Amino acid sequence: MQFIDLKSQYTALKPEIDAALQRVLEHGQYIMGPEVAQLEGKLAEFVGVPHCITVASGTEALLIALMALGVRAGDEVITSPFTFAATAEVIALLGAVPVFVDVEPDTCNLNAALIEAAITPRTKAIMPVSLYGQVADMAEINAIAARHQLPVIEDAAQSFGASYQSGRSCGLSTFGATSFFPSKPLGCYGDGGALFTADAALAQVAREIRVHGQSARYTHTRVGVGGRMDTLQCAVVLAKLPRFEWELARRAALGARYAALLAELNVRLLAVRPDRNCVWGQYTVFVEERERVQAALKDAGIPTAVHYPRPLHQQAAYAAFAPAGGCPVAERVAQDVMSLPMSPDLREADQDRVVAALAAAVGHRV
Ligand SMILES: *Cc1c(COP(=O)(O)O)cnc(C)c1O
Repeated sequence: MQFIDLKSQYTALKPEIDAALQRVLEHGQYIMGPEVAQLEGKLAEFVGVPHCITVASGTEALLIALMALGVRAGDEVITSPFTFAATAEVIALLGAVPVFVDVEPDTCNLNAALIEAAITPRTKAIMPVSLYGQVADMAEINAIAARHQLPVIEDAAQSFGASYQSGRSCGLSTFGATSFFPSKPLGCYGDGGALFTADAALAQVAREIRVHGQSARYTHTRVGVGGRMDTLQCAVVLAKLPRFEWELARRAALGARYAALLAELNVRLLAVRPDRNCVWGQYTVFVEERERVQAALKDAGIPTAVHYPRPLHQQAAYAAFAPAGGCPVAERVAQDVMSLPMSPDLREADQDRVVAALAAAVGHRV
């Protein structure tokens, strides 16, 4: 059993994907070819915002968003310590300070109630992460940001396609940034990502930053990066889009099935708030004695992963940014989280095997 089954997805879409790649090979516009704008149009429509800018990766999307907002050395950006390193990395890369605010114990998302106390005159942005595929408390976060006139960047690398109230992940704040890394909910066959915004001026700035700060060829109006997503990767995502709604439905069904099957076991499930869904970028549960449980599952042929074993403020690269008193909730959940196999093509029979092996390892609730 694979942790994420990308092979079945390719098999299902092989004619479309092969033809899409072949078209690019024939027209030869490998950089900024017609598929780039086509994909941007379709993704903007899907998310429900006017502007989509494809970029080289999810990390690049976050970096370009911060650059477009003018975040510079010495500025502070409020974010979660319980995320993939890229979230804080791009802040530190600009010489700015990641200000880690603790997470909620049941969703592992940024705790909105703790944000306001972390705002200072140097705060330049708030960057919540939609961890595991569920958007954080964006309405509350947007309200706090509005009170302090701060922009909000959603790190939506794990949540593309998720719904939140009447909107969609990536379209809920100043910028939404996602990743098309192969294992993400919408993946390409290499690196890719996208930025979304409703602000035409910010979109234009992000487009310029993506191509070395050029407003026209060899007219460099600002410092930028080499941040384009290549045409072949855009063609892959375009070919995958027609199946994406089906995949989201499968993720929802498999997530609900896991929840029902695991209800009687000695595991704690992730909470999903009633005004949103989770696209299960990872299907993550909380277990005790994680090492032992992972070893037992491995012996049964079930792959697992840990997202993430250590919060960022306890990593050497970010220890200097650790808040006084740490982030006790992030530290606690980092010991317990364990992700189970999940992808739209996970078969029910395999899911049953995962649950049976987990039941043998953790036992039933008494
Ligand atoms: C994957 C991921 C990123 C980085 O995306 P890449 O495309 O790999 O650069 C950033 N943040 C989170 C939360 C992620 O899961």
